[in-house]
Amino acid sequence: MALFWLFVVTVVVVSVLVFGPVWRYRRRRAEATKPLPATWQQWLSDRWWLYPYLPETVRVALHRQLQVMVAHTDFYGCNGLAVTEPMKVLTLAQAALMNTGRGRMQWSGFPVVLLYPDAFVREGEVVNELGVVSYERHELLGESWEQGKVVLSWSDIEQDLRGHDSHCLVIHEYAHQLDGRDGVMNGTPPLLDQVQLGDWAKVMQSAYDHLCAALSRPGLTQGEVLSQVSIDPYAGTNPEEFFAVISEVFFTDPETLVSAYPAVYEQLRRFYRLDPAGWFV
Ligand SMILES: [Zn+2]
Repeated sequence: MALFWLFVVTVVVVSVLVFGPVWRYRRRRAEATKPLPATWQQWLSDRWWLYPYLPETVRVALHRQLQVMVAHTDFYGCNGLAVTEPMKVLTLAQAALMNTGRGRMQWSGFPVVLLYPDAFVREGEVVNELGVVSYERHELLGESWEQGKVVLSWSDIEQDLRGHDSHCLVIHEYAHQLDGRDGVMNGTPPLLDQVQLGDWAKVMQSAYDHLCAALSRPGLTQGEVLSQVSIDPYAGTNPEEFFAVISEVFFTDPETLVSAYPAVYEQLRRFYRLDPAGWFV
């Protein structure tokens, strides 16, 4: 009798292990190949400045990724915000764009999204390297947590949807998610093949050092710094912020990245398997 139950349990475990991934794959494929709802198409066309510039092949891939992401992403409204379907679709469309070149999901699972109506406050005690404790209070537009959580301000997402500039909060925070897939956010996402990894380290370090040197020149105003480095000086905070900021520029203002750091653009072109510089001609 014991042998019989051992047999049954073994069959069940093997079936789950073998057929579980197949079933999940088939389900996602079915979700991805459904036609995009007409209302979603309308929201994308009417409310996202970048959407009309996307080549047809990228749009088709975007629609597939978007349907899967919307089906599997949990949203939580914070500070009284009621999260609506257009909010979900327009937020995730920007993240889905990052996946369109690679053809499959790059996130480890689907990050949970906490959506605030506006900038939100983080406060608490901070211990520095000397052990000195201080109380800090920061107003933030977004955050990305290593455990698969993204925190975003809806009013800033709306601004990005309307405006043609090099900022995109959603791409910034989801770039951190890509970067942290191997459990460490360090500006080097774990999806690089060995050949690219060598080039990546050299190119990124050189561009990051150049940016930091420009930012540290004494006596420059904020405007002068901006005109010298072409991209948001926040990229000079550390290598992980550098990767997140250049990802924003890559998708929203690629010509600026091509002229400021052409080798960086080339690395991102190979990494994302997309060439946005050709979208705006
Ligand atoms: Zn960041």
